[in-house]
Amino acid sequence: MRVRVLGTAAGGGFPQWNCSCSNCLRVRQGVFSGTPRTQAQLAFSCDPDRWTLVNASPDLRFQIEATPELWPRDGRRSPISGVILTGGEVDQTLGLLLLREFHSFQIHSTAAIRRILTEDNSLFGVLARFAGQVDWRDIPLEGEFFTAGARVEALPLSGSYPGFVNQSRAAALDPAEADIGLLLGGTLAFLPGVGCVPDALLERLRSCDILLFDGTFWSDGEPARIPGLGRTARQIGHLPISGASGSLERLASLTGVRKMYIHINNTNPILDESSEEYEKVRDSGWEVAQDGMEIEL
Ligand SMILES: [Zn+2]
Repeated sequence: MRVRVLGTAAGGGFPQWNCSCSNCLRVRQGVFSGTPRTQAQLAFSCDPDRWTLVNASPDLRFQIEATPELWPRDGRRSPISGVILTGGEVDQTLGLLLLREFHSFQIHSTAAIRRILTEDNSLFGVLARFAGQVDWRDIPLEGEFFTAGARVEALPLSGSYPGFVNQSRAAALDPAEADIGLLLGGTLAFLPGVGCVPDALLERLRSCDILLFDGTFWSDGEPARIPGLGRTARQIGHLPISGASGSLERLASLTGVRKMYIHINNTNPILDESSEEYEKVRDSGWEVAQDGMEIEL
């Protein structure tokens, strides 16, 4: 299986259009030891003619253009045959609307995310303009499923539904279907939004070769300093990297696993490769995933 990491930033990207934090300011000025990043996005394939996207980021059009494997052939035949959604947030789903140009594909999501997008949001009707345009498949929370010949399993998480889902709708849905991680090919775990790592999940990760893990925030207090957010990293469902029981500490025992941070918020100091925090992450055996990376499983 080939995996392409198309984007590595959290929602908003890096730099973020309305942000002038030290990172965003310096990357715009060209004086930053690090690179701009698009919003988190993967694509994988077991067969060069069929690629599956993991989520559909708002940057998807640019990410496809930057990845020759995803370019269309023979007129308008796209190799993108499926999309797996791990949640229903804007930065996981907005790109679906960009795939509306009379192309047929599958969307794998939990039943709850399918219902939110297809029953509550009429805009997603652009994906139902003709019979067979999109084939929605419900992801089982237990056991495996297949897409374009690849074996995938859901990793259960205790997330919450996006803030745009009204409270009565969210209360009527199974909380286990709000947010999932993925295990690709039995060996690559994709967990871009994790509030805590229960022992059962930690044990499951031990058998993986590669982990792409939530690198949204360096510290628990980091998002509280972002105007409008005012909550801690854990309160918004992201385990911070540093501090007691942060991911560096919590996942330190996964010594045989290639560990990479993904879904990195523009405020996170690990984006700056001259920072102490970047050095600390690298010294702890972690990599910071880069847009365009390729991983062979
Ligand atoms: Zn910023």
